[in-house]
Amino acid sequence: MRLLIMGPPGAGKGTQAKIIADRYGIPAISTGDIFRANVDAGTPLGLEAKKYMDHGEYVPDEVTNLMVRNRIDEPDADPGFLLDGYPRTLAQVEELDGMIEYTGHKLDAVLVLTVDDDELVNRLLQRAEVEARADDTEDVIRRRQEVYNEQTAPLIEVYRDHGVLVEVNGMGEVDEVTERLLEALGSVDES
Ligand code: AMP
Repeated sequence: MRLLIMGPPGAGKGTQAKIIADRYGIPAISTGDIFRANVDAGTPLGLEAKKYMDHGEYVPDEVTNLMVRNRIDEPDADPGFLLDGYPRTLAQVEELDGMIEYTGHKLDAVLVLTVDDDELVNRLLQRAEVEARADDTEDVIRRRQEVYNEQTAPLIEVYRDHGVLVEVNGMGEVDEVTERLLEALGSVDES
């Protein structure tokens, strides 16, 4: 099963990605988590990524694409994967298409979580208290929302055209959203 999960910052992608991936026995691959791990470890990739992340900007496509390519080449991703936070630009969509095609597989579904704007801000402010992420300050949150709307929201239409879009209401409790996602995925034809 090869899946993506999309949605604006605060939509609950990370939480749901882990649960859904677990159910399907595939790794949840979060580009944000990989970048943060590299920042914490002080690797060259982390130092490069931090310049962008601290301001709510996207890390350049070449850097991000190579990192994802290497990650999905790992043996645990042979049966499939759920990508969380990638692709975020049109160039990344094209790159991912190539990566999946090369392995002779297809993208099974693109999950999109839809959440009201007010709820998004509430969730991000709550997360700021709990996780203390460097990019959860008000200015940076606002910039991340802008960048999402400009660069990533248009990808939803691209995937709709590809016929793989699965839109799910992301409002409510974690368990309710998981139920909706699993139900929606039940009707996805896996090959
Ligand atoms: P996330 O945890 O998914 O919200 O990602 C945190 C930050 O990591 C983003 O604001 C970007 O700076 C960077 N990032 C994560 N995924 C990508 C991506 N696919 N392309 C570019 N930058 C990314």
